[in-house]
Amino acid sequence: MGLDELNSGVVGVRDAVASRRVSALEVVKGSLARIAAADPRVRAFVQVFEEQAILRARATDERLARGEVVGALAGVPVALKDNMCLSWGRTTCASRMLENYESPFDAMVVQKLMNAGAVIIGKTNLDEFAMGSSTEHSCFGATRNPWDLSRVPGGSSGGSAAAVAARMVPAALGSDTGGSIRQPAGLCGVVGVKPTYGRVSRYGLVAFASSLDQIGPFATSVADAALVLDVICGVDAHDSTSADRPSGRFFGEVEVPVEDATVGVPKQAFSDANHPAVTAALRGAIDVYKRLGVRIIEIDLPHTDYGIAAYYIVATAEAASNLARFDGVRYGHRADIGTSGTLEEMYSRSRSEGFGPEVQRRIMLGTHVLSSGYFDAYYVKALKVRRKIKSDYDAAFQLGCHAVLMPSSPGPAFKTGEKAGGGAATDPMAMYLEDVYTVGVNLAGLPAMTMPGGFADVAGVSLPVGVQLVGQPFEESWMLRLARMLERETEFGRQAPSV
Ligand code: GLN
Repeated sequence: MGLDELNSGVVGVRDAVASRRVSALEVVKGSLARIAAADPRVRAFVQVFEEQAILRARATDERLARGEVVGALAGVPVALKDNMCLSWGRTTCASRMLENYESPFDAMVVQKLMNAGAVIIGKTNLDEFAMGSSTEHSCFGATRNPWDLSRVPGGSSGGSAAAVAARMVPAALGSDTGGSIRQPAGLCGVVGVKPTYGRVSRYGLVAFASSLDQIGPFATSVADAALVLDVICGVDAHDSTSADRPSGRFFGEVEVPVEDATVGVPKQAFSDANHPAVTAALRGAIDVYKRLGVRIIEIDLPHTDYGIAAYYIVATAEAASNLARFDGVRYGHRADIGTSGTLEEMYSRSRSEGFGPEVQRRIMLGTHVLSSGYFDAYYVKALKVRRKIKSDYDAAFQLGCHAVLMPSSPGPAFKTGEKAGGGAATDPMAMYLEDVYTVGVNLAGLPAMTMPGGFADVAGVSLPVGVQLVGQPFEESWMLRLARMLERETEFGRQAPSV
């Protein structure tokens, strides 16, 4: 039945649908039923497209009945983070600013998913404009972690991670500017891939920090994530930063172990700030690789600690510039200032009402670091640090590493409200420190992924912990194959929360 097939992941669903063991309609209905049952508690979705999804599933079944060739994801329900443009429903970025925005076009990733036959089942919650690490900064309210509803799913793609973890959909897309795919994947116990900068078109992704943003998949297995990545990647004339590289073969290669593999482990990965289960998961992964004959070498990423500062300068600077278009005239919410208000008041009130506190904080920070007098001291210096971080990775790869292994975040899921409780309970610095292991990868433009690495026992509750692999530019295949080697030897990814 549809529900069992859902648990079999992307490849399981598409094989079952293509061979007509199950209909696309049954799968989609199974997904909708799972959403109806679990999402009132998890709150991963901000919109569900029941009618469109059913129509599309029916059309897929009809095509199969006629013996037509269908795409690689025919009948597979996929959820989209709500910062990707879709020509139906709304594209809100979880912001009052875009509460009623209806996109006239589909993002390139949506076009590619649709061409492959996927069924877009709904839009998922995020931190407003993808700024955050907990999916609490949303005008729709917080998403909850399916493993423990009193905890966050991570962020900013927390809705997509939670939807996949709770098996509401076999796959979802997120965006990763500083860790927003990898950190929630780790906290929800699923696989999340951030491709090399340029691998996937950003056309139709609402921009946060354009030199860092990248779209990628969430799934419950490495092979599933590889298949979705095959579908969404590729050069696109609409995004001049997209790269013209051969692609579309990750899934086909994923079962082939990397021969004579070398994996680098940065000494900075064993920080005292890690939760013990995070360090244990890292050691566990190292042991598995050693057993498989993978050469493990210690590497040095000496600028790791400067990553957060550099990232929060570069990302806020770009965000302040990107978000200038939301002024109530060109785009977004317009405040009602009556007949006596001035133009200045209209701009200022529209932006104050439309943006939440974290987005306002970022715009102010970004405007400050770009302002004359501070530009050299902050922005230019951050760019220099960015270059240093890139050279650290280059040096590690020069040593022959096929990938670098480290945690995806310093701890398991934290409590809702613990770092963003509002008022005095809001601690932006504590939230930003979540990103210590992820931001460097975006600054360096590298591919990276998180996969389940173990569990932490926190007050009797079992919470997933991820491990992260960072690849060489455009060598996602090595990274995915190394991940698959680890996945084959462990059971962590097979467990699902009981929500
Ligand atoms: N947590 C980081 C931030 O708040 C990363 C966000 C992201 O990758 N979109 O900026």
